[in-house]
Amino acid sequence: MAKIVDALLVGAGAMSSTLATLLNQLDPTLKVAVVERLADVAVESTYGWNNAGTGHAAYCELNYTPETDGKVDITKAKEINAAFEISQQFWTYLVNSGVMPDPKKFINRTPHLSFVWGQKNVEFLRQRYELMSKDHQFAGMQYSEDPELIQQWMPLVMNGRKDGEPVAATKVERGADVDFGALARTMIRHLQSQDSFDLMLGHSAVNMKPIPTGGWTVLLKNNITGKRRFVRTKFLFLGAGGGAVRLLQKSKIKEGRGYGGFPVSGQWLVCTNPEVVKQHNAKVYGKAAIGAPPMSVPHLDTRNIGGETALLFGPFAGFTTKFLKEGSNMDLPKSIKGDNIKPMLSVGLNNMSLTKYLISEAMQSQRSRMKSLRQYYPEARDEDWTLLNAGKRVQIIKKDEKGKGKLEFGTEIVASADGSLAALLGASPGASTSTQTMISVLERCFAEQMENQGWKEKLKTMIPSYGESLRESPELLAEIRAKNLSTLKLDAVD
Ligand SMILES: Cc1cc2nc3c(=O)[nH]c(=O)nc-3n(C[C@H](O)[C@H](O)[C@H](O)COP(=O)(O)OP(=O)(O)OC[C@H]3O[C@@H](n4cnc5c(N)ncnc54)[C@H](O)[C@@H]3O)c2cc1C
Repeated sequence: MAKIVDALLVGAGAMSSTLATLLNQLDPTLKVAVVERLADVAVESTYGWNNAGTGHAAYCELNYTPETDGKVDITKAKEINAAFEISQQFWTYLVNSGVMPDPKKFINRTPHLSFVWGQKNVEFLRQRYELMSKDHQFAGMQYSEDPELIQQWMPLVMNGRKDGEPVAATKVERGADVDFGALARTMIRHLQSQDSFDLMLGHSAVNMKPIPTGGWTVLLKNNITGKRRFVRTKFLFLGAGGGAVRLLQKSKIKEGRGYGGFPVSGQWLVCTNPEVVKQHNAKVYGKAAIGAPPMSVPHLDTRNIGGETALLFGPFAGFTTKFLKEGSNMDLPKSIKGDNIKPMLSVGLNNMSLTKYLISEAMQSQRSRMKSLRQYYPEARDEDWTLLNAGKRVQIIKKDEKGKGKLEFGTEIVASADGSLAALLGASPGASTSTQTMISVLERCFAEQMENQGWKEKLKTMIPSYGESLRESPELLAEIRAKNLSTLKLDAVD
């Protein structure tokens, strides 16, 4: 007999764990199940070593402030900053309510810095700083063109750098390094203590059919025994990371037609030598190389993962046909269907330079990777750095107005008109903005509960800014930010 639940969430990463926790907090009687194809929770993109763990607040990421005709635009940076504040409010609520009692297990204060060299880049950073420092969201941002001060901010980056070269940097003290794997595991562990929650590890969602009276029947396969079972659910969330595109295609909902995925792989150089690690406590982001996709901005990062501190440099993007790190080389070819072949082909043809860039990145030697690292850490020694494979990011391909294809680097929720199914496509800005993204799933798929069953009011107790704009209200942001920073222990130096 089929198992019956109120909500079935496919994939046990940052997104499903956030959505499951929100649902459970809003209505603890809801029967929620999470199905995960791998043997553990949060071992794909959400796993600490598979992503950069930057709490994306747009303090240091230069790709969020694009420059067109010499003018810097901070609109996207403001959006991302506000979205990260929403995640921090939710995490603050979870810390205060005992779900995740120790914030240091998943979030750590790590200043966010941008660093550039060369006159043109210095002028860009100066203009960016002038705009941002006037905005309440970026209050406290510091700027310098003084090599001596920058040397104090980031000694590894400045030691051994050639004299006389124009340099500039910005710094925001309250930046965060987040172990999203630890965050997701803690949320799921808390859910597991409740009878209304079920976690099915080692099971893949392989197919699904709508139930004529509402909801979905989902076919699951046990990956060890091959045994099949059915789950009937009122609501289905496809939070399968890179696997979501193919599951969305299987759902056959009309809103999912025409979508495809463009996978990008990643690698890091990692250093665990304590002598080196202790000299850098920051996330230092630079400018992306010409032709690089926006998510391959190079950065030298302090990471805190599972009690270990390390430095990470990258990502080195690469060409792949797999949609998941633990996926198949056939993922990309199998995702080509009648309704998306045109957009997929046109994206392929129009992005040859990106594909060439990804292939050349993937073919790089260790020597050339070390050369890239030395642009940020001139005195880096070969023996301190090893190469590690990161997770995959599947970018969204969708039909444009002319029926051709366009490649998008953000995230998108695709939901059925009746709200019984939602899929999350794309991977940027990623786990940092998971709370806002999952709230938009609630708004689209649980509209009745939000309006008439008190969910909006409950949400407001978890996320005090819910329904208001942090971008437009300096007082509200200041009050909320102070509480978040204090609870999450991001406001003080140890
Ligand atoms: C290189 C890299 C760097 C990044 N850096 C950052 C960063 O600095 N900051 C940030 O905020 N974000 C970052 N991200 C993005 C972030 O990691 C992702 O947005 C986030 O982890 C996605 O969570 P998810 O739950 O959607 O996916 P995942 O964590 O990938 O989880 C999806 C799960 O679904 C499972 N699954 C797939 N198919 C099926 C199926 N058929 N049945 C059952 N289970 C299935 C998978 O095994 C997986 O566990 C980065 C990502 C990468 C790859």
